[in-house]
Amino acid sequence: MLKKERYKGFIDFFSTHQPDAETELHYTNPFELLVAVILSAQCTDKRVNMITPALFERFPAAAHLAAAEPEDVFPYIRTISYPNNKAKHLVGMARMLMETFEGKIPSDIDDLQKLPGVGRKTANVIASVVYQMPAMAVDTHVFRVSHRIGLVSDKARTPYAVEKELLRFLPEDKVYIAHHWLILHGRYICIARNPKCLECGITAICNYFAKNRLKEIKRSGNPKGV
Ligand code: SF4
Repeated sequence: MLKKERYKGFIDFFSTHQPDAETELHYTNPFELLVAVILSAQCTDKRVNMITPALFERFPAAAHLAAAEPEDVFPYIRTISYPNNKAKHLVGMARMLMETFEGKIPSDIDDLQKLPGVGRKTANVIASVVYQMPAMAVDTHVFRVSHRIGLVSDKARTPYAVEKELLRFLPEDKVYIAHHWLILHGRYICIARNPKCLECGITAICNYFAKNRLKEIKRSGNPKGV
């Protein structure tokens, strides 16, 4: 199958079945999104959503967080992964926002990455969600699922290489939503161990399915795979 056909199948399927895919993090403004994305590193969105209401109530804007010390933030985030580091990052991020960016969240990927706790992935999420830029954040789900489907080549061995390949083939206006399609598909269907291929609607365009699961199903003599 040509890569072009695979991308078309991918976009057609998800445009029909998940036309409104979006982040599962709860937020009401760009500052809250940035805080939530920093907190979500190596932690589930569900857990982050449990602690952010109280955190946002106590620190509703960058100025409030910038005036705090990490020890003040720690109690609000202690149940998520790496609370010590994340408390320091949040305060450092807010202080830099106030001191260098006049309290406004920058749109430039390089500027975003200057903020403590913000790597390329987080910067791309903010650029894409807040500023509607065609930026592709590659997390573990995007990396795994785009490889399995065959949207990217085996040569793309780093998140940055996957990002570049996806951006080369996706139409600009689909980059934002494709990011969410890949994450949600990876979270619920194309899970890391034992992907749920029999519940998946894109088997016809999936490289992994053609190479692995189809052979297993044929070998078992069960064409329905059940
Ligand atoms: S067919 Fe299986 S491997 Fe391919 S995308 Fe669907 S769940 Fe993932």
